[in-house]
Amino acid sequence: MIIAIDGPAGVGKSTVAKLLAARLGYLYLDTGALYRAVAWHILRHGIDPADREQVAASLPTLSIQMLFQNGAMRVLVNDADVTGELRTPEVTAAASVVSAIPAVREWLLPVQQQIGQRGSVVAEGRDIGTRIFPSAPVKFFLEADATVRAERRHRELVAAGHGGPMEKTYQDLSGRDERDRNRVVAPLVPAADARLIDTSLLQIDEVVEQMLAVVAAAS
Ligand code: C5P
Repeated sequence: MIIAIDGPAGVGKSTVAKLLAARLGYLYLDTGALYRAVAWHILRHGIDPADREQVAASLPTLSIQMLFQNGAMRVLVNDADVTGELRTPEVTAAASVVSAIPAVREWLLPVQQQIGQRGSVVAEGRDIGTRIFPSAPVKFFLEADATVRAERRHRELVAAGHGGPMEKTYQDLSGRDERDRNRVVAPLVPAADARLIDTSLLQIDEVVEQMLAVVAAAS
C-alpha cells in the first residue's frame, strides 16, 4: 500500500504524514529530505545550486541512503548522517533551486521508487501522486491559505532557532511555491485522482482522521 501526500510548503504534510504512518505502521518517506540532501552535497562542494551543468556533473559522486528508525527517516550522504543539517535556511533555499533541475529529479526517481518495494509507505512531497507513485491507491493533496502556511513555517523556524522577520518567511515560502508550481519537470499540481484537503482551518488530528477514513475505505 502506498499513500501519496503532496502539497506546497508549510501545509502540514510532514506532520500529518508522520502521524498517519505511525497510526498505520507504515514507513514514512520524506522526499523533500532527498532534495535537501542533494542541496547539502552541492553546497559542501562549493557549487552554485543554479548552475545546472555543475550540479548534474556532481551527481555521480553522490550516494544517498535512507534509514527508517522509530517512525523517523535519517539521511546519509556518502555514508555520513546529515539529517540534522538538512533544515537550515541555506539548504532549504538551495533545495528549492536544485529541485527544478531535470537531472536531479531523474536521479532521485529510482531512489524514491525503490522504497515503495520495501513495504507499505506514506510518501510526502510535491510529485508523489503524479510522478513517483502514479498508481498509488490513495492520494491526498493538501492546500492552505498562504498566510496560514507562512505562520506555521515561522513558528517551526523560531522553535528551531532560525527565526527572522515573519515577512521574510512569507516571501521565502511564496518564492519556493512559485518555483515548484512553475517548473517544467514535475510541477506541483494535484494528481487527477487526488483527494483535496484544505488544512487552513483544521487541526492536525482532524486532518489525520479524515485521511484514516479514506484509507480504511480504500483497503
Ligand atoms: O518538503 P521540503 O520543504 O522538505 O522540500 C524541500 C524542497 O524540495 C522543496 O522546496 C521543493 O522544491 C523540493 N521538493 C520537490 N519534490 C518533492 C519534494 C520536495 O521538488 N517531491
